Amino acid sequence: MTNQQYAEMWKDLGLNLEKHDVLLNALAKGYGDLFMTQKNRPAGMGYFDFVISEVHGLRIKELVDRKKAGKKIIGAFCLYVPEELVYAADATMVGLCGGADFSIPDAETVLPRNICPLVKSFFGFKVGATCPYFNSCDMVVGETTCDAKKKVYEVLADYTPTYVMEIPHKVDTEQSKALWLSEIKLFKQQMETLTGNVIEKDSLKEAIRLINEKKKAMKRVSDTRRASPTPISGLDALLVNQMSFYDDVNRFTLKTNELADELEKRNADGVGVGDPSKPRLMFSGCPMAIPNWKLHSIIESTGVPVVAEESCIGSRYFTDLVEPKGDSMDSLLEAIWDRYHNISCACFTPNDDRVTKVVDMAKEYNASGVVYNVLQYCHTYNIEAIKVDKALKKAGVPMLKVETDYGSEDVEQIRTRVEAFTEMLSPV
Ligand code: SF4
Ligand code: SF4
Repeated sequence: MTNQQYAEMWKDLGLNLEKHDVLLNALAKGYGDLFMTQKNRPAGMGYFDFVISEVHGLRIKELVDRKKAGKKIIGAFCLYVPEELVYAADATMVGLCGGADFSIPDAETVLPRNICPLVKSFFGFKVGATCPYFNSCDMVVGETTCDAKKKVYEVLADYTPTYVMEIPHKVDTEQSKALWLSEIKLFKQQMETLTGNVIEKDSLKEAIRLINEKKKAMKRVSDTRRASPTPISGLDALLVNQMSFYDDVNRFTLKTNELADELEKRNADGVGVGDPSKPRLMFSGCPMAIPNWKLHSIIESTGVPVVAEESCIGSRYFTDLVEPKGDSMDSLLEAIWDRYHNISCACFTPNDDRVTKVVDMAKEYNASGVVYNVLQYCHTYNIEAIKVDKALKKAGVPMLKVETDYGSEDVEQIRTRVEAFTEMLSPV
């Protein structure tokens, strides 16, 4: 279908068609410039090129068709929302985090300017009526992670039905476990009420399997990047991770496994992207919601590959699986808590587990250095950089902290800093 044919659907969703056209054109141009100019891409990326070309078209039509069939669509902003419970209630979850500079002026008509661009971007998509995912949602689910998010959800509730989960910040206490488990149970009830479907043991087990399979496929792709030369660019791998929040789960898993097959073969044949004599960088820090490709594209434009992402759009999402120890509903819910409280977002305190994970990952992926991403005004990741830097230094891995937003003004300055950083690194 063409954009003209989709226009009726976008109008029915309440989008501002004029603005939305500008967004789609900018997205297509940005994608073409950054992704389609890369050399020696895996053939399996063809699927993801297709998905992005239809990200506001075919995928939205699938969601709209589900809604017409009486199913519900849930939007979420954070990894802590247990998607297993959404799918067990026969609903669909989509990620709503914003990675576009485009929607920020709309957000700033309501919100203060000095909050993180990710929050402003998603809020701006709703206020400006430019995101068909947002407008497809029957409910959005927030969480009490950072101050910016939790306060913005209060304002967002004036625009769309919003439910907020309480996420305890001191995770390793009995009180925290009790609170978090009760929040998971409340969320289960919430999904049952919204969908009219009772979540039974079997449907929850099947949803756990579904999401675990998706994460295993993503982990397979990630694992191939330990090789030198890396078989896939960081930019392409980032895109796969970003698409995991939007695409149909079964189809995404199938296509990601196919990509992993190809990457494993590439490794066996010694085929890769980039120059293996160059240093390898790992990315760590704030999430890069689609279409935020800024830091990856800057780093890789210098000829240095990004080989891993310690981030929510990255390892924090797919590393751990939900692994029930028993068959009762209580065991299943406890397994969900066990997996989710392990995510180690910088909003936790203390958060030494994340610091250890960053160091371990840098070693596992043979990273010569780490680029630590702080989205402007994100205090949690910014302050936690102190501990991460110290631990990486002790392990002999240099770190470069980059604090930035979604604008293009600082691109050249960041490129110069990345070049200076990688010049002093030796290849691993
Ligand atoms: S960084 Fe923290 S708050 Fe943000 S999506 Fe990840 S877990 Fe959620
Ligand atoms: S990047 Fe930081 S400030 Fe922004 S939403 Fe995530 S935790 Fe909050």
